[in-house]
Amino acid sequence: MATSPIIIVGGGIGGLTLALELAKRNISCQVFEQASEFSEVGAGLQLSPNAMRRLEALGLGTALSVAGCAPPKIMIGDALNRNSLNEIHLGVTAQERYKAPYLVLARRDLQSILLDALKAYDCVELLCSKKFITYSQNAHQITAEMTDGSHYQGRMLVGADGVWSRVRHMFEPTQKPKQTGFMAWRAMVKTTDAPSLFTSSNVHAWLGPDSHLVHYRVSGGDNINIVAVTKGKALEKTWSDDTPKEALFEEIRPFNDELRQAVMDVPDWTAWPLMVLKPFKNWSKGRAVLLGDAAHAIVPFLAQGAAMAIEDASSLAALIAEKRDDHLTVFEHYKALRFRRCRRVLSKSIYQAQIYHSAGRLAKIRNSGLKILPSSLLLRQYDWLYKY
Ligand SMILES: Cc1cc2nc3c(=O)[nH]c(=O)nc-3n(C[C@H](O)[C@H](O)[C@H](O)COP(=O)(O)OP(=O)(O)OC[C@H]3O[C@@H](n4cnc5c(N)ncnc54)[C@H](O)[C@@H]3O)c2cc1C
Repeated sequence: MATSPIIIVGGGIGGLTLALELAKRNISCQVFEQASEFSEVGAGLQLSPNAMRRLEALGLGTALSVAGCAPPKIMIGDALNRNSLNEIHLGVTAQERYKAPYLVLARRDLQSILLDALKAYDCVELLCSKKFITYSQNAHQITAEMTDGSHYQGRMLVGADGVWSRVRHMFEPTQKPKQTGFMAWRAMVKTTDAPSLFTSSNVHAWLGPDSHLVHYRVSGGDNINIVAVTKGKALEKTWSDDTPKEALFEEIRPFNDELRQAVMDVPDWTAWPLMVLKPFKNWSKGRAVLLGDAAHAIVPFLAQGAAMAIEDASSLAALIAEKRDDHLTVFEHYKALRFRRCRRVLSKSIYQAQIYHSAGRLAKIRNSGLKILPSSLLLRQYDWLYKY
């Protein structure tokens, strides 16, 4: 049984990164993805140095730097009047401080790079149109069942199946994603078609009452990714949502006129209700374990959800390689390594949400504080996160 594969449910960023981490260690695995092909939505990702360090160690540094962009700065501005509040130096400053770059890129580019890298390994099998429904396990193996009736045996099963995880539901049915009351609106436009306000090579974060707007270049500079986070709830249990974009224009009514007009000039917005999981420690049962959003869905105010999935994958693969078939020890060490860090990232993300979305007097205090803070300190506050 020592050679039976690791079963990975979910071919998102977490599942594919784990597959590559295992493949590099010559450990066989099968990835089961419910979609008919591996496809990511046209949204962007910020990959901070803690994630980039691990992706570089997987040999993906060059491909990522070609597909992505290395923004010189994060510009923080007041959405009400477009005044600059401060800036965080990235580029060479981040590279030197954290020994890894801060990159922004399209999610589909990251996914293609992971898939391309996986092609080199015979020990990885990628299977699409395979929706996991249940598992059974005994002392020697775990068997995954798919909705098409097929069965697959392995020595461990990793639920990398996202915030609505079916694997988690199998052993922690009471842990359900909760509405955060935030709605994320995403758009991707060609740089040549984008309103000029959005074409900067920096990351921009515009802070407004109960909402904020972020934009940055991706795809080597060819496209602009724009995300607005406002108040709002999901209409139903779904990932993307049909909420009309007029709701976005209404939520950002207090924004500076040019900024609001630029948002309205972007034709296609998709609304995503933001869900979160209350921290829970029970990430495994027997031979099944959780990874990424399935274990710890985080609000994206620190842009760390995918980064945590990448860190999880790296820790879990290293432990599997070290402890081989002792799944109970692997999972105990994995949880001990990952739980507190992910909980801390979640609580800091929630704190960041409160700062970003302050209104009235609190926003004035925030703005005054931001204006007098040395920009080097703004970066250093993330040392605990980026040096990991
Ligand atoms: C608006 C927004 C902006 C964000 N920005 C950033 C950012 O800048 N930086 C960052 O690090 N993170 C960011 N995140 C978070 C990041 O997107 C997630 O944390 C990350 O995608 C989680 O990866 P995952 O692999 O765990 O899950 P997912 O990406 O959700 O992948 C899960 C996969 O499992 C598959 N699946 C689900 N159920 C089954 C099943 N039953 N059987 C088989 N397959 C199944 C799905 O189809 C999917 O492919 C952002 C999130 C949002 C909403």
